[in-house]
Amino acid sequence: MPTTAWPPDFISRMTIWLADEAEAFLDALARRDVGLRLNPLRGDLEALQARLPWRVAPVPWCPEGLWLQEDEAAVGAHPYHTAGVYYIQDPSAMAAGVLLDPQPGEWVLDLAAAPGGKATHLAARMANQGVLIANEVNRRRTSVLAMNLERMGVTHAMVFNETPERLAARWGGLFDAVLVDAPCSGEGTFCRDSAAVRDWSLATVQGNAHRQRGIMEQAAALVRPGGRLLYGTCTFAPEEDEGVIAAFLDAHADFELAPLPALPGLSGGRPEWIGAAETLRGVGRFWPHTGPGHGHFYALLHRLGQPPDDLPERWTGTALPGRILQLYRRTLREVLAVEAPEEGLYLDGNDDIYVTPLDPKLWAGLHVLRPGWWVASQRHGKINLNHALAMALHSTDVQQLCDLAVADPLVEQFLRGSFWEDDGSAGFVLVTVDGFPLGWAKRGEGRLRSRYPVHLRR
Ligand code: SAM
Repeated sequence: MPTTAWPPDFISRMTIWLADEAEAFLDALARRDVGLRLNPLRGDLEALQARLPWRVAPVPWCPEGLWLQEDEAAVGAHPYHTAGVYYIQDPSAMAAGVLLDPQPGEWVLDLAAAPGGKATHLAARMANQGVLIANEVNRRRTSVLAMNLERMGVTHAMVFNETPERLAARWGGLFDAVLVDAPCSGEGTFCRDSAAVRDWSLATVQGNAHRQRGIMEQAAALVRPGGRLLYGTCTFAPEEDEGVIAAFLDAHADFELAPLPALPGLSGGRPEWIGAAETLRGVGRFWPHTGPGHGHFYALLHRLGQPPDDLPERWTGTALPGRILQLYRRTLREVLAVEAPEEGLYLDGNDDIYVTPLDPKLWAGLHVLRPGWWVASQRHGKINLNHALAMALHSTDVQQLCDLAVADPLVEQFLRGSFWEDDGSAGFVLVTVDGFPLGWAKRGEGRLRSRYPVHLRR
């Protein structure tokens, strides 16, 4: 969308605030930078980058981040995207994972997670260890969140469809780290989101600020003493950004603004735009005219105090009836070359089998879309392997593998759900592209038949 179609009030206030930087800012905001964040769950970052067929440059503040140096690259349709080698993400949004810095083994909550750009980043940085709760209040958006976590090979996440209020009422003080990537006026997305342009007004900015204050109120309750809370938006509006953090600090004496690391391209807050306290310089903004990406606001908050000693541990129980557990073990033994997951097995009401990181008592009654890593389903006395199991495996984890080169036409055939002649032994086969997982196929009667899920097929 051309800058001439952008709201005049937005342009005029940014022009006043940014003065001689304003022209560069508006020009850069109209540019479409495409970022790719590599997935360390798929291997060493250098080796992954070496396989990409496009010219890329590093994102200065994110070791996993790259941005494209050529136009019209079909990054979304490439088989490496399907195989979760990378996630398409705005470079400035990649800083969330860097600033929150989740560690393997921590309990982490992404309160506004769909479609999953930041949640998949947090998951990869946690190396699939600990607990990741990816929550999204909008039911329609939870499916794409679940699909993205699955595509990126995440195994320690649960997907919830809850309000922040209901989570805070159940899980007060439970998390080491909470991310609020807040619904906002989206000024950073003007070049690609015509709805954000159409909906923008000074009144909607105020409305978003009000909504964000409510979400942050609940988020505060979810952080354990000693934990951290990262607030982010993709807007420059200070009534949201600095204004929301100023109100939060006024209302929460048990939180302080944590200093942000000196990342290249990260500049301080602008409290003078709204008459806020000088301490608000300690928040951070990425600007589109000083680095790749559309811009982002961040504030890192630290909850004072020590975590209590009686926090729950990751769940290692098993809630599978004995008969199904035996069937599950037998089927997975035939397919895998490694031990089948056993800790945290859980059977839901649809006879789907998950590896869940949380004791089911902790989330009973909450709306959950994926109670963990969906590994299999029980149907008519048989175990069907799930796509999410395949997407978290390595080539060496299975007994039967069909590795296709990226240029092989069979890759397309597999992704269309088709079959081809193949005389190997019968059974489940993991199909990979250059060693990266694409999904299951089943061999029998001289054919290898794709089991790529119908809803994902091309
Ligand atoms: N973190 C996501 C990512 O990186 O892919 C993007 C999140 S988007 C900026 C904000 C999300 O907040 C939207 O998915 C929206 O549905 C959700 N949302 C809207 N109203 C909300 C509310 N009152 N409480 C919590 N989340 C809300």
